[in-house]
Amino acid sequence: MDSQQFREFGKAAIDLVADYLDNIRNRDVLPSVEPGYLLKALPEDAPEQPEEWSDVLKDFNETIMPGVTHWHSPRFHAFYPTGSSYASIVGNILSDGLGVIGFSWMSGPACTELEVVTLNWLGKLLGLPEEFLNCSPGSGGGVIQGSASEATLVGLLAAKEKTVRRLMKVNPSMDEDEIKSRLVAYTSDQCNSSVEKAGLLGSMKMRLLKSDPDGRLRGETLKNAFDEDCAQGLIPCYVIANLGTTGTCAFDPLYELGPICNEQNVWLHVDAAYAGAAFICPEYRHLMKGVEFADSFDVNAHKWLCVNFDLSAMWVKNANDLINTFDVQRIYLSDIKTDTKIPDYRHWQIPLGRRFRSLKLWTVMRIYGAERLREHIRGQISLAQHFAKLVQSDERFLVEPEPAMGLVCFRLKAGDNITKRLLENVTERKEIFMVAATYRGRYIIRFVICSRLTTIDDVTYSWNKIKQEADLICSENIHVKAKMPALNRIDTVNNCEKSK
Ligand SMILES: *Cc1c(COP(=O)(O)O)cnc(C)c1O
Repeated sequence: MDSQQFREFGKAAIDLVADYLDNIRNRDVLPSVEPGYLLKALPEDAPEQPEEWSDVLKDFNETIMPGVTHWHSPRFHAFYPTGSSYASIVGNILSDGLGVIGFSWMSGPACTELEVVTLNWLGKLLGLPEEFLNCSPGSGGGVIQGSASEATLVGLLAAKEKTVRRLMKVNPSMDEDEIKSRLVAYTSDQCNSSVEKAGLLGSMKMRLLKSDPDGRLRGETLKNAFDEDCAQGLIPCYVIANLGTTGTCAFDPLYELGPICNEQNVWLHVDAAYAGAAFICPEYRHLMKGVEFADSFDVNAHKWLCVNFDLSAMWVKNANDLINTFDVQRIYLSDIKTDTKIPDYRHWQIPLGRRFRSLKLWTVMRIYGAERLREHIRGQISLAQHFAKLVQSDERFLVEPEPAMGLVCFRLKAGDNITKRLLENVTERKEIFMVAATYRGRYIIRFVICSRLTTIDDVTYSWNKIKQEADLICSENIHVKAKMPALNRIDTVNNCEKSK
């Protein structure tokens, strides 16, 4: 393929993407394919001869597209959002066009320095304490990781190294492996699966402490866990606080956890993967009160800030903690740079190679401007509040817990089984997509405003689909009850009948 064909292929692909997003409402959010559909549709071997790009695009439309779950459909309400915007897509094209690998300053001066600049911009927009910014006197800084999962693991590995160094300094006769085997990490039972995985990958015992009835990890619980473990000769090392849990978007009180961690030299990492984006709006910053106690903080710009995956923004208070953990020297990696304030980002992450990811953050921040990004966050929160009102207007439903950010959790008062049936039936129709969680032992459905394209009409549309399905289930239940009153196998059918 030469540059002329690239121009044609690229322009056709951009038209395809623009058309796709313009017309995304015409598609069911979930695809109608069976597992293995694509394995059957494609040849078993790669082509020997070059093919035409037009044939590739044709197959994209005919075989790939039918198997796509449409994450940017305004009817996608599952998980949390994944970011996308035209500005970000173009940033990615530019990055791929350069194809730079910026593991040291010399390997990509612009790649390194734009990352410093954009993470300082974003850190300031979020209202992070100054110690977290690059080139701050205490040598903190921001780095782009691929995912919140990686950020949690990077924090864990740095915490481990720091704790071992600290203890061996006090007591040089201690055995390093012995110390490592006694280290413990803590988080709440509401943590994201990736947090638990970081413990597995980093070989550190991870305790999932019981959260309070609102899903928050409290200081007292943490303090008790530290005390228990210390009494057994274990060493508290790493705490992951959640700002915006995956299940119900609960916020751990950093102002309670922070002082306890600081007092015991325990690294505090903040996982604000989704909800952290809201801190660009000052009215939500009270939810990170106590962030000054943290050692590291992570938010996924690729979730709620219109940046395409992957761009997880991580800040640390002391970059030397990362460098001490990950610095492995080789002669071919030595750099001409003498300014030690400019990072060699390979020491801040797991892989050696790194893409020019800051470009897409830069294009998004410039094309939107901070004000538009704040409007995006506020707009999505108000759409969620609108949805909550719709649910509350129907007496068969309960909204619980209180909606937070773009998430509304709800259930049918008639019980868990019937709520579960509702979700199953809605999912089967493929028109809207939501997932479940639990809250205080009850089965709940999570409804998240995900797509940046979502309008108030889309929210009404989704609510009507949910309501129609609830009507069907409830009338079915009444019918079953009339026929087999003695069986009583449907939970509290009466409550399900809409009070008139
Ligand atoms: C989404 C999410 C993660 C995982 O994010 P990745 O970037 O996919 O690793 C971790 N924690 C929380 C709270 C999340 O919402």
